[in-house]
Amino acid sequence: MSLLIRGAHQLATPIGDSTRRGGDFGRLAIAPRAVIRCEGTDVVFVGDAAEQELKFPPPQQILDAAGGCVIPAFVDPHTHPVWAGSREQEFNRRLAGESYMEIARSGGGINATVQATRAASFETLLDGTLTRLDTFLEHGTTTVEAKSGYGLDLATEVKMLEVIAAAQRAHPVDLHPTCLAAHEVPIEHRDDPERWVNALVEEIHPSIARRGLAEAVDVFCEDGVFDIEQTRRLLADAEAFGWRIHLHADELTPLGGTELAVEFKALSADHLMCITDRGIAALAESETIGVLLPGTSFFLRSDYAPARKMVEAGCAVALATDCNPGSSPTESMPTILALATLEMGLTIEEALTAATLNAAAAIGRASELGSIEEGKRADLAILSGASYHHLVYHYGVNPIRHVVKSGKVVVKDGIRVSR
Ligand SMILES: [Zn+2]
Repeated sequence: MSLLIRGAHQLATPIGDSTRRGGDFGRLAIAPRAVIRCEGTDVVFVGDAAEQELKFPPPQQILDAAGGCVIPAFVDPHTHPVWAGSREQEFNRRLAGESYMEIARSGGGINATVQATRAASFETLLDGTLTRLDTFLEHGTTTVEAKSGYGLDLATEVKMLEVIAAAQRAHPVDLHPTCLAAHEVPIEHRDDPERWVNALVEEIHPSIARRGLAEAVDVFCEDGVFDIEQTRRLLADAEAFGWRIHLHADELTPLGGTELAVEFKALSADHLMCITDRGIAALAESETIGVLLPGTSFFLRSDYAPARKMVEAGCAVALATDCNPGSSPTESMPTILALATLEMGLTIEEALTAATLNAAAAIGRASELGSIEEGKRADLAILSGASYHHLVYHYGVNPIRHVVKSGKVVVKDGIRVSR
């Protein structure tokens, strides 16, 4: 199948097959009126319309960008997209002044979602996940890292990861499954958290690895959840399964999770609202990517990660939604880009790179995804606006008009093309 995208006012993309940082971070290739030709799943030509006509036979399908801007589709490198129940009642409590931690201690928070997710059937979880994946796709995201972590027992963690595997078979969005059984200490282990760490190391992680349900591991390294030594033990154990590492690090307290992630050569250290100067220095020296989640700061009305300081220090930075029912219930990367620019001080160019090429690097896929170049996967989004500035300028609405995934039009005029 060949597809030609023509009629664009502009194409805007980072260039390369690895993480962009320093002076390269905000450097986009901007091509006015470029056409893009896809063959099968890949991009085979980017450039001048007349040259394309000379080089190739007429395409089987044409997508008219109608004066819009073409960008790489988003990669979302940190999400929790499988859950049951809803926590909108906590929203009012937070507006009235209760903190996220106070609500968690009174039976809300992660454990409320754990109870609902344990009770939910496989079909209910799969339905909810597929609906969310449609929303991701309609907002221009074609690849999503997907964590478990609302089971906190072997059966439910396996159920969540099997839902992710089933969603992958049923939906065009690419899913990268991460085992986050170490998301929290479940209520039944609160009297002896060490017993839960032992269960993770001895039973739950090996069992999930044997089933081949995850490609990475994540741990919520935080005061009152898993301390540095417990996290170190969990990661050392998980490394033996060949799992890559993501880490919830330095989110609520400056515990040193960033330095630990660097020590383990993690793909990413995530959140980083409380990253220290030492953490920034360690991250800047490493290949580990700082995944920033401004949606969570916005929604919890807390501090943002020091993005500008990290970028100036030479850290590689990516952006993600953290899509989850408690602290960031959104699938929209354009919303995240608006927050990254308006609240964290990234330029639009940096934010676009952070949400595409660097986000692909944060899940180990930068050689195939995250930019529009010959030989890369044909995962593209077309904005209604004429330039990439419309991504954040026209805020609070969906700026995405069409989405192409692996060379196929999957969203047309804002509507999901039926399978
Ligand atoms: Zn998270």
